[in-house]
Amino acid sequence: MNCQQYTTLLASGQLGPRAPWPLRARAACHTLICAHCRRFARNDAALTALLQGWRESLQAPGASPPPDGPKASETGADSAG
Ligand SMILES: [Zn+2]
Repeated sequence: MNCQQYTTLLASGQLGPRAPWPLRARAACHTLICAHCRRFARNDAALTALLQGWRESLQAPGASPPPDGPKASETGADSAG
């Protein structure tokens, strides 16, 4: 397995707990020898956790709506009589 195969499998969710063990074993062997993919896997897990927390906060019953963008300020041009 090379880096491209590893990152493709990981990013597409094919290395989850339901993946066949020979595939997971090959992926684990690759992360043992490749610091880049170890870092990629750590970042991927952190990003997944972050998105999961964000999704749950949006689905929670008293969730505050996401912050709005900057609102267009109204220009009050009054014509004095
Ligand atoms: Zn790698």
